Amino acid sequence: MAGLYIHIPFCKHACHYCNFHFSTSLQLQPQLVSALVTELTLRADYLKEPLESIYFGGGTPSLLTPLQLETLFNTIYKHFNVTANAEITLEANPDDLTPFTLSTLNQLPINRLSVGVQSFFEEELRWMNRAHTASQAIRCIADAQDAGFSNLTIDLIYGSPSLTNSKWEANLQKVIELGIQHLSAYCLTVEPKTALAYTIQTKQQPALNEEQAEAQFLQLLDCLEPAGFEQYEISNFAKHQKYAVHNTNYWRHKPYLGIGPSAHSYNLNTRSWNIANNNKYIQGIEAMKPHFEIEVLTIDNQYNEYVMTALRTMWGIDRRLVDTQFGKAKLQLLDQAIKVFLEHEQIVQIDNHYRLTRAGKFRADGIAAALFA
Ligand code: SF4
Repeated sequence: MAGLYIHIPFCKHACHYCNFHFSTSLQLQPQLVSALVTELTLRADYLKEPLESIYFGGGTPSLLTPLQLETLFNTIYKHFNVTANAEITLEANPDDLTPFTLSTLNQLPINRLSVGVQSFFEEELRWMNRAHTASQAIRCIADAQDAGFSNLTIDLIYGSPSLTNSKWEANLQKVIELGIQHLSAYCLTVEPKTALAYTIQTKQQPALNEEQAEAQFLQLLDCLEPAGFEQYEISNFAKHQKYAVHNTNYWRHKPYLGIGPSAHSYNLNTRSWNIANNNKYIQGIEAMKPHFEIEVLTIDNQYNEYVMTALRTMWGIDRRLVDTQFGKAKLQLLDQAIKVFLEHEQIVQIDNHYRLTRAGKFRADGIAAALFA
């Protein structure tokens, strides 16, 4: 099974922490949708397997009009084999999710909404420069549930300077109270070329506090686990096994096709990525000369990616899979490099799997890097 990702590179505001590819000028939206249709048609044979998931990400896919979404769906269903129960996710921002929009979205094949809430506190949202208000964040979830979207996920951010532990606790309690089944909780990071990076560099605000972030990460586990959430990936929590099919397939290294500016594609042997520039992307597609780069993945690349992603999941690194897919030498390397983390109880071995312990989870990326070939 495979996945399809479509990148919608437009946003109303530039959030201060964000370095995804997007433009706050929406002028090119019609041309971009036409280019997406063409790219979908041109690359219809990239995947050899049926689609188990379709994901509209961004940017802000909820800025698309119902007609634009319908055009994209018509193209997808014409050129791709989509399984009957495919997970079809649309990322949406709370200010776009009015009852009217939700009812039109409900008439499309979308069966999962990923809502960029980030916080239920007004001052936090202003600090992030989000386009929505706290009351919109709360209201849109109830409206989405009333409109029949039972598969809802929201994003929250922790580790920001104004987020006290008690506010973070209140945000998490709100998730539980609202009956949300899936949460992605991200630790705030300072990405290059963002307003956040600039204000820290110019000392307009202090650097982020890692101790606070770690404390809030542990708070996250303490709050959600008793409420029935499973942490199936470092940043992802689900109730009743409502794991995100699309993202889980990334972590399981299933192939995917990425359409749109900056979108990445993966077909087991190569990874490619489209140009992160709306104008150049459209021009390239219109001229039938798409701008993209491609990397042929070596065994070491594939092994490192497997270690990086598998370690972050609750399933952990499968020693047998390392042996069969990457060879005995890699398994020996892994067993040797992992010893220190077993001794420090940051990793535990259960049967043939290496899994992070509570003490290791906050350091997942650093530990994975130490295990690389
Ligand atoms: S809405 Fe999302 S993609 Fe757009 S700037 Fe904010 S965080 Fe980035």
